[in-house]
Amino acid sequence: KDEVNIISGALELRKKTVAEVMTKIEDVFMLDYDAILDFETVSEIMKSGYSRIPVYEDNRNNIVTMLYIKDLAFVDPDDNTPLKTLCQFYQNPCNFVFEDVTLDVMFRIFKEGNKGHMAFVHRVNSEGEGDPFYETIGLITLEDVIEELIQAEIMDE
Ligand code: ADP
Repeated sequence: KDEVNIISGALELRKKTVAEVMTKIEDVFMLDYDAILDFETVSEIMKSGYSRIPVYEDNRNNIVTMLYIKDLAFVDPDDNTPLKTLCQFYQNPCNFVFEDVTLDVMFRIFKEGNKGHMAFVHRVNSEGEGDPFYETIGLITLEDVIEELIQAEIMDE
């Protein structure tokens, strides 16, 4: 039964897009580039339980970098370090894919490994008067793709 599930899951990967399985931007735990890493903020990060935290500038659709929990190893909350300082030091890159990328393609990108196991899903927003711009609408990780492959939820520790 498991095998049948995985085979049908593998076939489905070609039909589903990243937008269908991503974590929507409004549900993403992220930080403002201008945040201060005081006790309150660091506690919130720890409480969230995520190992990677997107960092946005100005608005939540504008993700500029990523904070890894391990980047906090040398941060003392009493120092009130600006998040900016850490971001400029580590400069963790983020990886973007378009919303219509299918999960088999996404899986291949993650497998190659050189871009990490998380990607931001974006689209071109050409509504409204101004020039079209890139808008980030969600994030997807290898775990989201594997859940589709095995057609079951992976329980987080
Ligand atoms: P982690 O290593 O932080 O547990 P995973 O890659 O295992 O992250 O992903 C677990 C689930 O959590 C996935 O559904 C993913 O989309 C989601 N996720 C990962 N990071 C975040 C975040 N910062 N905010 C909200 N959801 C996230």
